[in-house]
Amino acid sequence: MSRADRVSARLAERGLDALLVTDPVNLRYVTRFTGSNGLAVVGPDVRRFVTDFRYVEQAKLEVDGFDRERAALQLIEPLAEGWADGDVRLGFDDASLSVRAHAQLREKLPDRVALVPAAGVVEEERAVKEPEEIERLAAAAAIVDDIYGWVLERGLVGRTERDVAVALEHEMRLRGASGSSFPSIVAAAEHGALPHAQPRDVEIPRDTLVTIDIGARLDGYCSDCTRTYATGALPGDLAEAYELVLRAQLASLAAVAPGPTGREIDAVARELITEAGHGDHFGHGLGHGVGLQPHEAPRLSRAAPDSPLVAGNVVTVEPGVYLPGRGGVRIEDLVVVTEQGHDVLSRTTKDLLTVG
Ligand code: ZN
Ligand code: ZN
Repeated sequence: MSRADRVSARLAERGLDALLVTDPVNLRYVTRFTGSNGLAVVGPDVRRFVTDFRYVEQAKLEVDGFDRERAALQLIEPLAEGWADGDVRLGFDDASLSVRAHAQLREKLPDRVALVPAAGVVEEERAVKEPEEIERLAAAAAIVDDIYGWVLERGLVGRTERDVAVALEHEMRLRGASGSSFPSIVAAAEHGALPHAQPRDVEIPRDTLVTIDIGARLDGYCSDCTRTYATGALPGDLAEAYELVLRAQLASLAAVAPGPTGREIDAVARELITEAGHGDHFGHGLGHGVGLQPHEAPRLSRAAPDSPLVAGNVVTVEPGVYLPGRGGVRIEDLVVVTEQGHDVLSRTTKDLLTVG
């Protein structure tokens, strides 16, 4: 079954006849179109793809199995026509379509076509990766493994966080990435206590921790991996925090398999960290799905839905402990859920390494 077939098969349970796909990432997933302006209508008996004149040739190469149409920039003109007879329930992405776009669409569509909020249909399908997607995610993860090897050779002490972050992103591109999946995090000493720290123009000192959280984007797919390094002899509290986070990471990673929910896997790490007295220092979720976007379904967190993980999910496992004014530790792997359990795509060692 094609991606469009699988998305179409999900529509009946929501009482929809067709789905309007407007979000660029969802559009890429369903049609493989990589341009910046297009839309699709997908249903059991309909495969329409609309783009503007700039992308007509590109769409011929990328978009297979759809009736391709050309329209003015706004793209909705053709949607005045071409619908099946009778009443049509057309799902749209109420999480991303603007109020203005919705009004324009309503005006253009025949009255018998009802617009029905239907966010998440494509995202549910995206959460279960095909072998081809897992290969791409593995290749994106391999670039980051390579970068961590480069960090060890190149060193950290005396360079600014920002210098390191810029160099990391440059190295990713030299290794074939189209860019980084998200702004790189390089956070030393007390700055590491901020989970989403922005790199500063401050030199990385000796005898502390440095957290590096990076991802490479390759063929549209993202990777995401965090390692925390020592820059010399560590104070006792930071060394203990590292040991605790590593233990929580290994235990929760071991729980990743088809069956448990994201909440249950989050709880494995959270209980260990809480028992050690650091529950308040682990304020974020354990992990998230990764694919065409750096953060997508499914979530591993206290607020995750009750659905079990399934083979084909690709998630991060990234517990952290953040000690205000002192430093932080986060260790993050990218992991594929398989029929037998899981496969870790991040291969870089998690032993505490000292980098000068
Ligand atoms: Zn990360
Ligand atoms: Zn992450």
